[in-house]
Amino acid sequence: MRQRIFFKLLAAFSLVMAAAVVALFFPSRSVFLLLLAVAIALLIAGFVSVLTARRLRNIMHFADRIATGDLEAQIAENSTDEIGQVSSSLDAAVRRLKRDVAQLKSTKDQLETLLNSMEDAVIAVGPDDRVQWVNESLDRLVPQRARLDSPLEETIRDPDFLQAVHTAGKQSKVSTSRASSILPGRIFDVTAAPLPGGGAVAVLRDLTETERMEKTRRDFIANVSHELRTPLTSIQGYSETLLDGGTENGHTREFLDIIRKNASRMSRLTEDLLTLARVESGEHQFDIQPVAPAELLREAAQHFRESARAQGIELQIQDSTSGFVAADREAIRQVFSNLVDNALKYGASGGKIVLGARAQGETVEFYVEDFGPGISSEHIPRLFERFYRVDKARSGESGGTGLGLAIAKHIMFAHNGLIWAESELNHGSRFILTLPTAQEISEKV
Ligand code: ADP
Repeated sequence: MRQRIFFKLLAAFSLVMAAAVVALFFPSRSVFLLLLAVAIALLIAGFVSVLTARRLRNIMHFADRIATGDLEAQIAENSTDEIGQVSSSLDAAVRRLKRDVAQLKSTKDQLETLLNSMEDAVIAVGPDDRVQWVNESLDRLVPQRARLDSPLEETIRDPDFLQAVHTAGKQSKVSTSRASSILPGRIFDVTAAPLPGGGAVAVLRDLTETERMEKTRRDFIANVSHELRTPLTSIQGYSETLLDGGTENGHTREFLDIIRKNASRMSRLTEDLLTLARVESGEHQFDIQPVAPAELLREAAQHFRESARAQGIELQIQDSTSGFVAADREAIRQVFSNLVDNALKYGASGGKIVLGARAQGETVEFYVEDFGPGISSEHIPRLFERFYRVDKARSGESGGTGLGLAIAKHIMFAHNGLIWAESELNHGSRFILTLPTAQEISEKV
């Protein structure tokens, strides 16, 4: 540019000088002087233009360096004219940009260090399902396969993992799953969350050790319960025999009765512990068949009709629905047993227990309701934990083991169903359970 301006001015200067030389041969001196003045002006203009062009060239050079990402570039003009002011504004803008970029980089480094120090494996994928980033734990997990910008399936092929990541990315919601084929013999808990610009980030937690310890604990409980069965039956049997033998001593009778009652309580506890261990472990095979909701309700009511009548409690079926639910009849009978038994034990003062079933889309909602003292809200979230009792003394007195609702919860989960409690103090309790309908099966039946 400098050359172009310079050459243009040089050409103009030469032209004017040529005209001045020609004018020299004419009688009028004033034309010559005028042309000389113009030539000098052009000379000065040329000099100024060269200087300006050099400064503009500096700015262009600076812009080129910024465009290539070099934030060290500076124009460093001293002048205070317009070009000088533009230059110092540009310098200040670059300094600010440099500071912001450094800050962003430091935040990114901190985040990376944090994610790399995690024991859990983390992987981020873009909207095109290509790997964008992995942390070191994931690299260790799949060392030869974790390549950036490659399709996710090339890194991890587990279908449950892929499903969770796709759901998070496509439906923009947190999705969880359990993946067991990422590495042989290892189980991972997968939580995938959507990323703001599309795609998803997934965290994989190795549950192998936790599961192994859980299994050891369950096996231990199951073994202890199993081992206790025989001696307890024997204690129960002998105490009953001695009581039946008609011992006269009042104290002896009383003690024998206490022994019998406690042995039978322990026996119930070991049976419940065994059931819970079996259901919780997933080892129990449920025989899921289409069952009519009305039948389940009828069986539950029938089983408790006598004991309800004996306590002066009205037991009735309020609603029912047609169709079928997918259920293991025996297992659901046990859930109803626990619920109605509890209603009789803790809600008897209400004088009435109501059972029912209502269709709710793809599920049927069953309920067992009593009108007793109810349960205050702080206990409700913990009711289904093992050994959780609202009133320990009351539960012990009535022969409760504190495991009934925990067993019910696991049975319902195994059915892809839910169970929860609704209650208000002094207004009774309602236990609700849902079971999926058995449309396809019922059509074939
Ligand atoms: P338990 O063997 O003690 O009955 P559950 O697991 O069946 O154990 O129930 C846990 C606790 O929940 C009970 O101890 C009782 O305090 C409370 N509970 C259960 N059902 C009812 C109910 N219908 N009304 C009031 N409290 C209840």
